[in-house]
Amino acid sequence: MAILVINAGSSSVKFTLFGAEGETVLAAGIVERIGFDGTRLKYRNHCGKAFDELVPVTNADEAVVTILAALIHKDHGVISSIGEITAVGHRVVHGGERLTHPVVVDAGVKAYLTECCRFAPLHNPHHLKGIDACERHIPNAVQVTVFDTAFHATIPRHAFLYGIPLRFYTENHIRRYGFHGISHKYVSEEAVRFLRLPVDSLRMITCHLGNGCSMTAVKGGHSIDTSMGFTPLEGLVMGTRCGDIDPAAVLHLMDHHGLSPADMNDLLNKQSGLLALAGIGSNDLRDVIAAADGGNPEAAVAVDIFCYRIRKYIGAFAAAMGGIDVLVFTAGIGENSPKVRQQVCAGLETADTFGIVLDPLKNAMASIQSRAIQADSSRVKILVVPTNEELEIARETLQILSGRPH
Ligand code: ADP
Repeated sequence: MAILVINAGSSSVKFTLFGAEGETVLAAGIVERIGFDGTRLKYRNHCGKAFDELVPVTNADEAVVTILAALIHKDHGVISSIGEITAVGHRVVHGGERLTHPVVVDAGVKAYLTECCRFAPLHNPHHLKGIDACERHIPNAVQVTVFDTAFHATIPRHAFLYGIPLRFYTENHIRRYGFHGISHKYVSEEAVRFLRLPVDSLRMITCHLGNGCSMTAVKGGHSIDTSMGFTPLEGLVMGTRCGDIDPAAVLHLMDHHGLSPADMNDLLNKQSGLLALAGIGSNDLRDVIAAADGGNPEAAVAVDIFCYRIRKYIGAFAAAMGGIDVLVFTAGIGENSPKVRQQVCAGLETADTFGIVLDPLKNAMASIQSRAIQADSSRVKILVVPTNEELEIARETLQILSGRPH
């Protein structure tokens, strides 16, 4: 028995095969550059056998066939037949308002996910292709969908509605959905486990800082607000996304420069954020920090803006929860950048306001060993928790298989 986790995107299919108990990775990898020259399969199994090779794959269906062939291969495979895969857990970005828990895929689920394609046109259509391919080639496995929006289904109405005519919510479903929910759920639960504190009264802020960045206010184990909104564009400044911006500025730019909605969408999602602010041709924070350290003033301001926005949301979410007990950093930047963590927390030290005090040495060493990086004097626990969305999907899939309620 094994559980396969699939994340089918526009040009890649990522996979992780977990063992029976849903926690041990048997093999993992990616088919990438689908639809481009040089499509490759990168594969690694739990015995350390790994390869990276060109594959004749042109779509998600062929990618799944290639992945399955690798998993049952006599040399580097980890299962003897496809029949050993009991379930497939699919990462799905948008479950809309109806799919607020992991569910077994059926015709109704697929029809609703198709409806949700208009909210996540860059993601949901590809997830559906991944589901179709797995249904075709792993016909005996239970197909389960796990949603990035689901953890945020507990956000109350006063936090998810925008201040526009209500009919746009009732008729067009315009509201805050929130994303990165699989990661926020995973790290918040890991933090509770690590701290051994009762979850019921815990006020936690989780910061998922990767290429995409979002923060969530988690009160009593439930998301009560999050920085991303109707789409993953709102909130923090990200690698190439602008985050919060006055919509009137967007309208002004469209008018002034004759930009179409598609132009503006591209500008705000792909040409903004750190890429635009630093102006060094890279959206990778490591490059931006290196440029700032080398004396580039725009790069230095880009880092300041990035960290300032995170600090501002800490204040907002602490107010939303009536205080903060735990601050969690995760994902590429959150896990690996002591500088960002330090700059985010700077100024939040005094006990009569936030009481967020980093231990400089623990902060510097966080990616190597310690999880708790607060100073002894800190009222708030500050944790670095490596995210593991694949494991969370496997756990949720296993929960569905065992019939336990979510
Ligand atoms: P994704 O959102 O694509 O899953 P990740 O969570 O892997 O991305 O985060 C990738 C980002 O993490 C990179 O773009 C880079 O900016 C950042 N990053 C990784 N290591 C460091 C580091 N040591 N210092 C600063 N930023 C880092």
